[in-house]
Amino acid sequence: MPIFLHNTLKRKKELFSPLDPTNVRLYVCGPTVYDFAHIGNARPYVIFDVLGRLLREIYPKVTYVRNITDIDDKIITASRKNGEEISALTQRTTQYFRDDMKSLGNIPPDVEPLATAHVKEMMSMIESLIEKEFAYESEGHVLFAVKNFPHYGQLSHCNHDEMIAGARVEIAPYKRNPEDFILWKPSDEGIPGWESPWGRGRPGWHIECSAMSLKYLGETFDIHGGGQDLIFPHHENELAQSQACFGPQTFARLWLHNGMLTVNGEKMSKSLGNFITMRQLLEKMPGELVRFVLLSSHYRQPLDWNDQTVLQSRQSLDRLYNALRGRILNSETRASESIKSALEDDLNTPFALSALHEIASQLNKTSDESEKNQLASHLKASGAWLGLLQQDPEIWFKGDQGVDEVEILSLINQRNDARANKNFAEADRVRDMLLKMGILLEDSSKGTTWRHV
Ligand SMILES: [Zn+2]
Repeated sequence: MPIFLHNTLKRKKELFSPLDPTNVRLYVCGPTVYDFAHIGNARPYVIFDVLGRLLREIYPKVTYVRNITDIDDKIITASRKNGEEISALTQRTTQYFRDDMKSLGNIPPDVEPLATAHVKEMMSMIESLIEKEFAYESEGHVLFAVKNFPHYGQLSHCNHDEMIAGARVEIAPYKRNPEDFILWKPSDEGIPGWESPWGRGRPGWHIECSAMSLKYLGETFDIHGGGQDLIFPHHENELAQSQACFGPQTFARLWLHNGMLTVNGEKMSKSLGNFITMRQLLEKMPGELVRFVLLSSHYRQPLDWNDQTVLQSRQSLDRLYNALRGRILNSETRASESIKSALEDDLNTPFALSALHEIASQLNKTSDESEKNQLASHLKASGAWLGLLQQDPEIWFKGDQGVDEVEILSLINQRNDARANKNFAEADRVRDMLLKMGILLEDSSKGTTWRHV
């Protein structure tokens, strides 16, 4: 069956046709490791995990590369703030990231290169860009000369002036033009640096992905993924650097970008107090529930994280796991065609999830035990395409998370309804019941939050 994917470069869905069907090559920008990953960071990794699963079902080999950015000014700032060695900080947060990915049910990428282990490759690419007059050295910096690359803007589909105004590009004395971006910058004493032809310094962020994808996937590869917020400037710059080195038509042929995540309808930010880290979430609910929520809307659409969606997703997973409960499963059973065709149509995960529900409905309707077992096997095999429903149902229902957040949220809703109906006795009863469970409610103008007593 053919796969259709939406290509940001062409702004349309197109038939996916790999360069080498014996080895499909995929690159996804990985995390900058200086802090806990938040729920918005997790979305692309779950989506591209589903893409990887789909490709592996169809092609004999997939090479999925996802880097770790372990040199960056944010890391330097965080290490100073924490009074922690840079290497200790990056190792600690890389481990958190890997733990979060595991809890979400993501299959690890085939290659997870560290930026600091590939500085030599970055330098050699920068040297080649200077030689070809796409880059210039200035006061210890090396910059990409955007005006020398006529295709700049091909991915973000914007003209230079609009992009510069939008991205608030830094004007600096060492730049020939404000839109020129950094390939290399000098490192002062006490800041990590590598000896280079341009003095002691460190690479810019964009060159990392160009150099690491080149090393593991070659000059041209199939798919590059990431969040929509990376289209400009990060991906536009990656594309410019790589094509300036290797010519037009090189680098990624198909670009996939996921929509942004909001929390209760607002953009997540530390100042709004709605910043949710994966770590906080995974203390309160199973990773599979988070995964289900992240797959509940189409990847190109925005996704709002709110209590209602979490509750609905919990109910959906309960219903699906309930269908698997006590069933004798046959591991040879294949996935449903409707799951396959939903995913082959630009990763339509909401359709795929409704196809899972359809199988559960059929199972609930029949009273024939062997048919029930067959449908349950079908359900589990289909869930695997999404990385869902692979646990023992008894473990799902028992839960190993301690307090069940979904139950708490449901009780909070119940109390809010009682208050709205001026049934204060009932509202107090629910509040006291939660208190007995060790949960204290706090009401504010923004709504009700809870914490452990
Ligand atoms: Zn990147």
